[in-house]
Amino acid sequence: MKKGLLIVISGPSGVGKGTVIKELMKNQDLNLIYSISMTTRKARNGEQNGVNYFFVDEKEFLEKIKEDNFLEYANFVGNYYGTPKDFVERKREEGFNVLLEIEVEGAKQVLSKCKDALSIFLIPPSIEELEKRIRNRKTESDEVIFKRLEKANREISETNLYNYVVCNQSIEKATEEIGEIIKNKILNKSS
Ligand code: 5GP
Repeated sequence: MKKGLLIVISGPSGVGKGTVIKELMKNQDLNLIYSISMTTRKARNGEQNGVNYFFVDEKEFLEKIKEDNFLEYANFVGNYYGTPKDFVERKREEGFNVLLEIEVEGAKQVLSKCKDALSIFLIPPSIEELEKRIRNRKTESDEVIFKRLEKANREISETNLYNYVVCNQSIEKATEEIGEIIKNKILNKSS
């Protein structure tokens, strides 16, 4: 069995990563599996434990760090987020292409450990559009929105770390573009 790819998708909060990933996952040809992260952030309305994230408290998260359970982890605007290592390794060994949706600090850790990972950064058409999207989501306070936008500006300045930068002008176009990038990587890997 050929080992699956490791695919990292990053992008500022509110850019639409979740929606694009949901669409990508429908494409059976890509043989994708989503890595569910662990976080200390409180669940938003509609979010489910074990589906969107594994929601844990800080004590448990710090335990997992100590036990070396994460492929990467980072603190993002006051909360911890991390990728459980075993799942990723097991699914890649089973031949799945494992998709990580993580922020830039975590992506740096993954890219330094896994040189052949495919990395894609999703950018918004503009910062104004990003602010509009975060506000429309109505899930964060003004203070958190401000911090997330500040973080977005910093993250966008680090897109050079990634193999590809894709603009989320529309969900359809971004999904198609990322799908093509993954398909090409799959073909190149098997040739
Ligand atoms: P949110 O709170 O909006 O769900 O996520 C905040 C940020 O954390 C997003 O940029 C998201 O991509 C990132 N993130 C989600 N899971 C992980 C993870 O396991 N590790 C890292 N480093 N970032 C994550």
